Amino acid sequence: MELLRQKVINEGIVLGQGVLKVDSFLNHQMDPFLMREVGREFTRRFAGEEVTKVLTIESSGIAPGIMTALELEVPLIFARKQKSLTLTEDIYVETVYSFTKKESNDITVSKKFIAPGERVLIVDDFLANGEAAFGLARIVEQAGGTVIGIGIVIEKAFQPGNRLLKEAGYRVESLVRIASLEDGRISFVEEEGE
Ligand code: 5GP
Repeated sequence: MELLRQKVINEGIVLGQGVLKVDSFLNHQMDPFLMREVGREFTRRFAGEEVTKVLTIESSGIAPGIMTALELEVPLIFARKQKSLTLTEDIYVETVYSFTKKESNDITVSKKFIAPGERVLIVDDFLANGEAAFGLARIVEQAGGTVIGIGIVIEKAFQPGNRLLKEAGYRVESLVRIASLEDGRISFVEEEGE
């Protein structure tokens, strides 16, 4: 997605240890026009899949998630992050290790929002090791739903998330794929052709 790629080139800041900061359009300030295009692109890629809900994780997944849900005309659910949990009766809980924060969080979704048979599209801002996406997918499956696919705004292709998710049988669609952040430079996976 060329518009997104240009944004990453012009505004992305490479932090150490393979982390990209995009707080001017996705992770702090958000660009609604770009997010609208992100939503349209995911909708185009998953056309015909009869998605019934979009699922993401707070907080940075909410902007791309809500725009995708708007285009698909379905609700968005965002999983909540919590440090640790005691009551679990009416919620699904999965533990997810955060690559950027270097800590584990429990992510939760209320049981009332995913019904058996639901066809769920997972959307997230970044894909690194796949922890968040796998956690969300396990929640959908615990609920008896089907993961239609995983839509990622920015994939760091030098980390194993994409491969692991595909090996597990999930369809992954990433709007930009970053090959490397070495020496403070952002380089993209070339196959995109966009
Ligand atoms: P994963 O769960 O795939 O290891 O990492 C994805 C999650 O970690 C995303 O939800 C995102 O919030 C965060 N994340 C991973 N890498 C980066 C990065 O380079 N930059 C930012 N801003 N967030 C990242």
